[in-house]
Amino acid sequence: MSAQATMDRLCIHTATTRPLPLEVAVDEYAAAGVAGITVWRDALAGRDPEAAGRMIRAAGLDVVSLCRGGFFVAGDAAARAAAVDENRQIIREAAAIGAPLIVLVCGADPAVPLPDARDQIRAGIEAVLPLALELGVKLAIEPLHPMYADSRSAINTMASANDLCERIDSPNVGVAVDVYHLWFDPTLEAEIARCADKVFAFHVCDWRTPTRDLLTDRGLMGDGCINIREIRGWVESTGFRGYNEVEIFSTELWALDQRVVIDRVVRAYRQHV
Ligand code: ZN
Repeated sequence: MSAQATMDRLCIHTATTRPLPLEVAVDEYAAAGVAGITVWRDALAGRDPEAAGRMIRAAGLDVVSLCRGGFFVAGDAAARAAAVDENRQIIREAAAIGAPLIVLVCGADPAVPLPDARDQIRAGIEAVLPLALELGVKLAIEPLHPMYADSRSAINTMASANDLCERIDSPNVGVAVDVYHLWFDPTLEAEIARCADKVFAFHVCDWRTPTRDLLTDRGLMGDGCINIREIRGWVESTGFRGYNEVEIFSTELWALDQRVVIDRVVRAYRQHV
């Protein structure tokens, strides 16, 4: 089992403290000793991304990634072309804010069969890849739990993400390993090892029992049944030395004083990651 994670590797996603405006989140994260921030695009609304990046770095935080791009799947070609345009815009935003990475929720559509959806995802990533290479932005395919295979992502296992990476075969395309989506998979350890230096990001939270909402009932680390520290060990065995990113969508936590939430995140991180 790995040792406790260190504070200099702790990153929080702005979605975890969604009620806080970006400026307040940055101040509060820095005050709590958090080292990195992953910015969700909704937190950037109405802001100049370059100025936001400067503000974050001035507070001493690293911009770890921009969340999120993707959603390449659609029944009609016009919608797919619009998604490619949108993703090019997201790549420009990532470069402006100084985020080295974009997390991709690849997309799915209940009207599109999964094998076709996977072809559309590959075509979408390949269409935006030249701009990502030009601007020095990496793209992380995030496999999502199969409960989202209808409408959010047709990439639902680490094996499927690895297969897609191998087919695209670019130094700028890798995988975001999120324990929430992958913890149950008996091939996870082997597939993380197979991913090797293509592990671009590591996301943590916990799986609550019972789960009361498919989207917004993630738990704080330690409040569920995921073997987080063991999975972190598998990820670090690949040579990964990036951030441990806390990404929790929780109606329950959003209703609390967000300073209390950040405090609880830091404590849960020290104990369970
Ligand atoms: Zn994630």
